[in-house]
Amino acid sequence: MTYDYDDQNIFAKILRGEIPCSKVYETDHSLAFADISPKAPHHVLVIPKGPYVCYDHFARSASDAEIVDYTRAIGEVCVRLGVAPGDGGAGYRMIANSGSDGVQEVPHLHVHILGGRNIGPMVM
Ligand code: 5GP
Repeated sequence: MTYDYDDQNIFAKILRGEIPCSKVYETDHSLAFADISPKAPHHVLVIPKGPYVCYDHFARSASDAEIVDYTRAIGEVCVRLGVAPGDGGAGYRMIANSGSDGVQEVPHLHVHILGGRNIGPMVM
């Protein structure tokens, strides 16, 4: 298994505090912040703090504590945004672009949470 993590990527710089972000939520192992170019009224990126390039890297290499923390952080962000169906929210779309075919722009794992309007059908 080979994953080359580039520690100069934008999200690594955000984690180090070298670039500002609009923080939505933070835990020991995860950070959520507003996307700089929002595609919906709510558009939040949730990232693990560890150096993981993409989802499969994270799933194979992260500790159980990191995985649990990240999974719960994503859910908590949805609750805080008011989009969680279990709390009466209207829902959201969760996207994790990975690699070149997935058209991943920033090589640090991130989940997009999009909500606040009907996101429409998945366009392929
Ligand atoms: P990807 O295509 O990799 O899934 O998405 C990368 C996302 O990161 C894009 O939605 C883009 O708007 C967002 N982004 C890129 N640079 C920055 C930045 O400096 N700050 C924030 N908050 N978001 C960024």
